[in-house]
Amino acid sequence: MSRKSGLGHEALLKRKAEENLESYRRKIHMNNKAQEKAAEQFRMRLKNKQDEMKLEGDLKRSQCACQQLDMQKNIQVPREVWYWLRPEEESEEEEEEEKDQDEDEYKSEDLSVLEKLQILTSYLREEHLYCIWCGTAYEDKEDLSSNCPGPTSADHD
Ligand SMILES: [Zn+2]
Repeated sequence: MSRKSGLGHEALLKRKAEENLESYRRKIHMNNKAQEKAAEQFRMRLKNKQDEMKLEGDLKRSQCACQQLDMQKNIQVPREVWYWLRPEEESEEEEEEEKDQDEDEYKSEDLSVLEKLQILTSYLREEHLYCIWCGTAYEDKEDLSSNCPGPTSADHD
């Protein structure tokens, strides 16, 4: 009885040691994994930041194009205030108008840069047959759909 339990104890110790070794190995593995993950997250953050800046750049270009194209069509006011680039300086007469615009702008804050870009892209395509990535205003819908690869920057890579 006592020998049996002694053996059992030894086996238990042995198993414990193996488990420790195993958990040690796992820990090392996890550390490597954690480091890999941290590095990956860092790369992702960097990439996200770059993507974000690219999106903001694209949105700005769209706003700029939208304002020009709207004005060519004699459209005096953007459909949504953020469709156009915000003027750097505003005269005093426009102050009253600006108040309304601020309210509109407040509403548009729900939209992410990507959403704004998507909305503005489809507006430019439908209203002006214009693609900022092609940099071209097309003749008609047929022309646009057959010559422009698609409505995202990735389509133009
Ligand atoms: Zn295009």
